[in-house]
Amino acid sequence: METYTSDEPDTWISQFCTQFGHDYFVEVAPEFIEDDFNLTGLGSIVPYYRQALDLILDMEPETTVDSNDLPLVEHAAELLYGLIHARYILTKQGLHAMAEKYEDTCFGSCPRYYCDNMNFIPIGRFDSPGVETVRLYCPNCNDIYLPNSSRYLNIDGAFFGTSFAGLFMKMFPEINRQVQARTKEQFRLKIFGFKIHETAPCGPRVQWLRATPRNQNQLLELKNCEFSIPEIKDNEDDEGEINGNGNDEDDDEIIKDTERESDGEDDDGDEDEELDDGIVVEDGNGDNVSEMMSIV
Ligand SMILES: [Zn+2]
Repeated sequence: METYTSDEPDTWISQFCTQFGHDYFVEVAPEFIEDDFNLTGLGSIVPYYRQALDLILDMEPETTVDSNDLPLVEHAAELLYGLIHARYILTKQGLHAMAEKYEDTCFGSCPRYYCDNMNFIPIGRFDSPGVETVRLYCPNCNDIYLPNSSRYLNIDGAFFGTSFAGLFMKMFPEINRQVQARTKEQFRLKIFGFKIHETAPCGPRVQWLRATPRNQNQLLELKNCEFSIPEIKDNEDDEGEINGNGNDEDDDEIIKDTERESDGEDDDGDEDEELDDGIVVEDGNGDNVSEMMSIV
């Protein structure tokens, strides 16, 4: 830890935070732990609570701990420290301590190409311990990731909690500025230079719907496209999108073929038809959209 200096005595907290794989943790200020209000409710979750608390604060235990119980107390102390840590990093002091780590890229950065090494923020999906290990949130793509090293896979997500990432971004608006400076672009597949139509199963619209359906109609569209080709309600101008094989006269015929196929006759088409299919087509109005799925 940066805050640790060699002339200070080695405390349990600084030892814990410098252990291998514990570099996501910040050192919780002892004053925070000494305030009973901050520990409300933890006594019922953590076994050997009193002994664990004494261990964390390097205090002489009031009652001697049986040597057989020592590993259990040590384990309880780690759990207790983690749960206190989740509360501490929501305080101003804790947020600033985490911000230092964030700026030093201690939590790693997003592997997604268009996120351009956006720094991760640690996050837990659950506030109860023992449910899931820590995940890493990317503010640019709004996705969560597993840490890239197995050394972090035994760190409980509850030690960071569900609220931290949101509060952290509120506290430090420059993160939003970092996000604004990055592109929101998604990689789009092309075939012979043409974009794949957005309604194709592998096309961007359906990918996008899977990610963020915004209203009931889109939810319905997403649900329907599992079984059939969805009808596009909004009349977006798709200039530049792929338009079949470039021959408008063939489009109607291909659409009819698709309609026939969707009626359950898709297995009796000959191979030539299958070769023609494979690319999504759309008529001139953009509201009678159809597609083929024979590209594997
Ligand atoms: Zn990302």
